[in-house]
Amino acid sequence: MTEVPYFIDLESAVALASKTLLSVGVEDAPLDEAHGRILAEDLRSKVDDPPFDNSAMDGFAFIHEDSLQPPTTLKIIQTIQAGERETTQPLQPGQASRIMTGGPMPPGADSILPIERCEMNEAGGEVTLTEQGRPHFIRKQGENLKRGEVTLEKGTTLSPANVGLCATMGWPTVPVFKRAKVAILSTGDELKLPGEPLEAHEIYESNSFGLAGLVRWMGHEAIRYPSVNDSMDALRSSLNAAAKECDLILTSGGVSMGEWDYVRKIMEEEGDVHFWRVKIRPGSPPLFGTWNGTPIFGLPGNPASSHVVFRILVAPYLRASMHGGGPKEHHLMVELGEDIKGDAKCLALRRISVDTSGDHPIAYSTGHQGSGNLGGVARADGLTLLSPGQPSNKGDWCRAMFL
Ligand code: AMP
Ligand code: MG
Repeated sequence: MTEVPYFIDLESAVALASKTLLSVGVEDAPLDEAHGRILAEDLRSKVDDPPFDNSAMDGFAFIHEDSLQPPTTLKIIQTIQAGERETTQPLQPGQASRIMTGGPMPPGADSILPIERCEMNEAGGEVTLTEQGRPHFIRKQGENLKRGEVTLEKGTTLSPANVGLCATMGWPTVPVFKRAKVAILSTGDELKLPGEPLEAHEIYESNSFGLAGLVRWMGHEAIRYPSVNDSMDALRSSLNAAAKECDLILTSGGVSMGEWDYVRKIMEEEGDVHFWRVKIRPGSPPLFGTWNGTPIFGLPGNPASSHVVFRILVAPYLRASMHGGGPKEHHLMVELGEDIKGDAKCLALRRISVDTSGDHPIAYSTGHQGSGNLGGVARADGLTLLSPGQPSNKGDWCRAMFL
């Protein structure tokens, strides 16, 4: 273990883990199931958008020059609806076409006036334009997208607007990264599933449920394994099964300095450790490496720590594995509304609520900051990113990450 990077800063930990990224393969997702997925290739438009010049308004199309001295009365020669299949007649000077939004521009016409600014005569055979025409109410072929243009890049998370854009570009299915299968293994003799009666000195196992939620929030598949007792044999067989079935393993508990911290022990003796311990508080114990070739994060057992470490270490790793796709990390500067405890050596990730009702964001502690207090995370809007030794009294400003 001596040559393994030990108690390193967060940036080094993220960089080290990123040397062993996941490669999960690609599949085609139908558009109906594409929301939230991550593009695995650059996507080029199959068409110009719009594919043809058309009207942006319900109104009249005509030759702009005819409208220069309003009012002008023109003869109506046709009506053009969106989706019009009939060949439209070319316009001659003195003529106008009634046209609906999305209707193809008739040849010769280069201006539009919305219906509200036109007066139709009684018989409907003529229209009087009360103002000059508006050439910009023509939506020009290809003004939004050009055929062949890369519109969405590999690594883009498909938001609702992006899914719509895929359809605009003519893609019925899109190439996306497969969801990573992520094994979640909690460890500890004291853990019981919620619903079972607690015996002396037992607690309810919560980490695997929270971590599964985080994995799904990142767009991946969470597979919760039964909690493992503190025994090398039990741990070995669970790790072997998880390494076989999954792309990534997350364990919780058993990575500290304690006698019963078997995740650390088994990784030292039988696995491959790439780093152990990170300069963050809470959550300094994490370990990263591989087990039978499968990447593994050993997360701390304390519930607040395991959650925070996922957000700060595992989430960037999953994003990097997906070419940057997945929910983004949002930072902002906040003013501290009260004294918040920093740390001399570690990045302090205090759980904060952020009041955004005033002219700038003000952060308050969500209460007791113990690493066993999951409620503090549950109530938090964000985490402070206080560098080692940074002043953190009421009125100081610091960077924060939104949860
Ligand atoms: P460990 O890292 O195994 O020493 O665990 C640190 C603390 O977190 C201990 O108080 C454990 O009881 C608690 N803990 C460990 N795993 C879990 C879990 N899955 N759910 C809730 N608490 C846990
Ligand atoms: Mg334990």
